[in-house]
Amino acid sequence: MAVDERVQQYAELLLDWNRRLNLTGARSMAALDPHLADAQRLLSLDWSGVKSVIDIGSGGGLPAIPLAIQLPQIRFTLVEADRRKAAFLEHVGGTLALQNVAVLVGRAEILGHDPAFRERFDRATARAVAPPAVLLELALPFVRVGGLLIDQVGEVDPLALVAAARRLGGGTPSLHRVTAGLMLLVAKESPTPAEYPRRPGIPARRPLE
Ligand code: SAM
Repeated sequence: MAVDERVQQYAELLLDWNRRLNLTGARSMAALDPHLADAQRLLSLDWSGVKSVIDIGSGGGLPAIPLAIQLPQIRFTLVEADRRKAAFLEHVGGTLALQNVAVLVGRAEILGHDPAFRERFDRATARAVAPPAVLLELALPFVRVGGLLIDQVGEVDPLALVAAARRLGGGTPSLHRVTAGLMLLVAKESPTPAEYPRRPGIPARRPLE
């Protein structure tokens, strides 16, 4: 099946399951289009040499599923705390025969300490999961030194995130604009100290400053 057809099939599955599960605010294909376009923008980055990506808080599968369809050479691991959403993501992977997709059910604060996942990924992606400082703590522990975190964000001052990024082993955050979309980019420069991420809920309650 062609790439476009598979993205279309994914969109139909998402809208169908969305009648029962709250996977996205979009209730029609027209409303879903901007969300798919958001995922599409990530393809403007250079993905050559990237072998593994972890997507934090995948929810209904954005941006991870469209990326996995279009970058079949890269292994995508989707982290989702909600069991029913994770079941949807498994269903999508099976229905579209996406052999490069694996789903982890659980919280990033726990999985980020598991040696099987900690500092194992070339890149981490996230969209609409948590405020940027919180997301840095949830996602950077998974990224290997030399890798990159890409958080799809709204307007944010990257300078306000410098200290949090440094504490987590990140470099200086920068904002990358692609048409109407913004991405916060943080390179992983040194290992994340063992104390991070803190216990579930703490990163959100007491964001690093
Ligand atoms: N990324 C998707 C998108 O852009 O449509 C989903 C966004 S949804 C608002 C955020 C998702 O992140 C939810 O499905 C939630 O269960 C998940 N999530 C939030 N905090 C999490 C955590 N600490 N660990 C794992 N998943 C988390």
